[in-house]
Amino acid sequence: MGGARFPGEEDEAGDGVPLRDVGKMEHGCEHYRRRCKIVAPCCNEVFPCRHCHNEATASGDRHTICRQDVEKVVCLLCDTKQPVSQVCISCGVNMGEYFCDVCKFYDDDTEKGQFHCYDCGICRVGGKENYFHCTKCGSCYAVALRDNHHCVENSMRQNCPICYEYLFDSLKGTRVLDCGHTMHMDCFSEMVHHNKYTCPICSKTALDMTHHWALLDQEIEATIMPPVYRYKVWVLCNDCNKVSEVNFHVIGHKCSHCNSYNTRSTSRPVDSSGSSSPSTSDSSENNP
Ligand SMILES: [Zn+2]
Ligand SMILES: [Zn+2]
Ligand SMILES: [Zn+2]
Ligand SMILES: [Zn+2]
Ligand SMILES: [Zn+2]
Ligand SMILES: [Zn+2]
Ligand SMILES: [Zn+2]
Ligand SMILES: [Zn+2]
Repeated sequence: MGGARFPGEEDEAGDGVPLRDVGKMEHGCEHYRRRCKIVAPCCNEVFPCRHCHNEATASGDRHTICRQDVEKVVCLLCDTKQPVSQVCISCGVNMGEYFCDVCKFYDDDTEKGQFHCYDCGICRVGGKENYFHCTKCGSCYAVALRDNHHCVENSMRQNCPICYEYLFDSLKGTRVLDCGHTMHMDCFSEMVHHNKYTCPICSKTALDMTHHWALLDQEIEATIMPPVYRYKVWVLCNDCNKVSEVNFHVIGHKCSHCNSYNTRSTSRPVDSSGSSSPSTSDSSENNP
């Protein structure tokens, strides 16, 4: 008989499954479980999801879909083409257990904790209660970072400095470094795995190095430099941006202002007071 059915209406399909739940989690693509395909507003072709569309067009007529512009979907259970809505107008299933009318987004896998952020203008995952929107950074961050991160304007509206994927609507988790710059969580782990502990954008130390610096202290104390190497050098600290004059050492040069070993050699400042910003040589040494 058709017509929209409403949540709570226990219209059963015959095997005890409420009608709106028929086929739940059984359809979709590698990106989403859903019971409809979308009609791409840009090329009028039918795709399982916007990522499938973007991947398919990446090799040819390269263009990306504007998710908010999707107007029509095709129900995967009854093949009816229809305007965007949660419930199929013909067979009455939920075409997505989660549905966002702004993003025209469907997903049967509600374990992901989808929610729409009106400030971001997109749907996110991870549970609304676990995130807040930082207006300065222009993105949603984990609640643990509320009043507890260095804001960088539009920090998420750029590409990951490691893999170059656009971060803002990336499906992968992101990590906010101490400096406020952001990258994928996985890319961060990969970077640390390769013994690089500094932000690729601003060179500041990206994680707590207290223990590591203490080890370097010990190592330096235990490694006496031969007399010919006992001279002073000027270093610029990547963490506090101050210069200091320190004993040359092969293992590392410690900033005398903040104790970081994330320093690089620099020329003697004009007034030698340590407060000017000198020109630096580009040999970035002692980056742990
Ligand atoms: Zn897909
Ligand atoms: Zn249908
Ligand atoms: Zn949304
Ligand atoms: Zn947001
Ligand atoms: Zn912020
Ligand atoms: Zn990345
Ligand atoms: Zn940074
Ligand atoms: Zn310093």
